[in-house]
Amino acid sequence: MLDEFRYTDDLLHDYWTYLLNQKKKFDPWLEHRDDITVANALIVLIQRTTGLPARQLAQLEGAFIHAGGIREKMNVARLEARSGHDPPLCPVCGAHMQKRISKRGPFWGCGDYPRCKGVRKMQGDQAIGQ
Ligand SMILES: [Zn+2]
Repeated sequence: MLDEFRYTDDLLHDYWTYLLNQKKKFDPWLEHRDDITVANALIVLIQRTTGLPARQLAQLEGAFIHAGGIREKMNVARLEARSGHDPPLCPVCGAHMQKRISKRGPFWGCGDYPRCKGVRKMQGDQAIGQ
């Protein structure tokens, strides 16, 4: 079972943190007296290292399918601006939003909640992008 790899804005730091944690897990085998055990540990570490870009790509694809690309988001914003819809459309998935109340006041929440967590701030009766 592979450890979960979390991507942030500092991808280089994320890679090194992940790889150093993997190396720590394999240290007993990397220090082993048997050469074959050391070689197998190295092979597994190399496979995990070379597999990181593929895992990152799969994660990016998942995020794109859920949230859409820049064109899709701009299309939603344009349709919303033209339609003058009240409620506005969700900036994440394009569904109609619903007025909700939190401790900090009213806001627009995605009508497809909890599947989608899209929100917009509310200013008077006018919704503005978050
Ligand atoms: Zn949504």
